[in-house]
Amino acid sequence: MGGLDAYHWLTEALATLERAHWKRSLKQVTSRSGAMVEIGAHNVLNFASNDYLGLASDPRLVQAATRAMEDYGVGATGSRWLSGHRALHRKLEIGLARWKRTEEALVFSSGYGACLGTVMALVGRPDVIVQDEYNHNCLQQGAKLSQALTYSYKHNNIQHLQELLQVHRAQHRRCLIATETLFSMDGDCCPLPEILDLAQQYNSMVLVDEAHANGVFGQNGAGWVQATNCQGRPLIQVGNLSKALGSMGGYVAGSSALVEYLRHRAPTWIYSTGLSIPDTAAAAMAVAIVQGEPQRQERLWGNIHDLRERLTQAGLPLLSPVASPIICLPLRDAATAQELEPQLLAAGVFAAVVRPPTVPSSRLRLSAMATHTPHHIQELVAILSDFRGCYDDG
Ligand SMILES: *Cc1c(COP(=O)(O)O)cnc(C)c1O
Repeated sequence: MGGLDAYHWLTEALATLERAHWKRSLKQVTSRSGAMVEIGAHNVLNFASNDYLGLASDPRLVQAATRAMEDYGVGATGSRWLSGHRALHRKLEIGLARWKRTEEALVFSSGYGACLGTVMALVGRPDVIVQDEYNHNCLQQGAKLSQALTYSYKHNNIQHLQELLQVHRAQHRRCLIATETLFSMDGDCCPLPEILDLAQQYNSMVLVDEAHANGVFGQNGAGWVQATNCQGRPLIQVGNLSKALGSMGGYVAGSSALVEYLRHRAPTWIYSTGLSIPDTAAAAMAVAIVQGEPQRQERLWGNIHDLRERLTQAGLPLLSPVASPIICLPLRDAATAQELEPQLLAAGVFAAVVRPPTVPSSRLRLSAMATHTPHHIQELVAILSDFRGCYDDG
């Protein structure tokens, strides 16, 4: 038995991906992040970034990270329980709790880990999870690892959620309803007040993932929970520091009891190294800037409306009627999607083409940023109009 044969399936699996048009290629960005970026030798319009407020290369974040590194080094050197707990972490957690108007907050090394570890800690075998079918992979995997019985309700469908609660809730010890607030691949938002009403009726916990909503919705960019007047209602708020906040890391915000429990039970917090010093310092700076500079959020929304209007005027189809920085154009099929990406890049547009199995149907995903100019948006729409045959008009 040769050792090589044991790995031959990898080559076959890759060939299968290729045939299904699921094979992807990495695009290397060679400049700073911004409204325009350099990819290879090309300077292209950047509509592929989650850096909604343009903070990822803000000089104040760079300076906060640099100063913190000079004072405290780079790595946190251990899990928070061991040697990795820093005053900077505490400062960031206090800042997050104030921003979110919760009793407490807990910082994780990634948003993915925050979701995964929180779901795993909150429910187990005797429990049930009812979640939106389009939830991010970290919530889906968290559900699997938790070993709770899991049901998915149709995307944003309150009636289906209620039906599932009605049928299944009573058979289980605890129930967790989980949803994203702004959906990352569709650009629409969950009906949060209605979900919370059902949760109360069926004695269930609610976990919301604000990864894409932070900095975008609500007063001070505090998110969809704030925008829908749900601050103060019993709720587990998860999010990250790596999108509008321009840094890295994740958090959970909620009651003191929740956070103290997670410190003792969330495996991705207990068994993972504390968030790095520069990431922590940059994130704390970003939390302050988001609240202190509402004009960034205003510019973002100006651009969102401008972009949607111009796309509609150009006769291009939009996937969601809801306005958000995530604007998707449906594509005919996966093969079209695969060909479109390099063609757009060559034409000067960097935008994400998302295909199954990540999403049910192929789409071009544009993300608006506060730092785009009207000229960037006009140019984008002109280029997208040249690829008219690729879109799915329904
Ligand atoms: C990006 C994202 C995450 C993961 O956050 P990271 O900080 O990148 O690990 C989690 N949930 C949702 C909905 C996301 O879009």
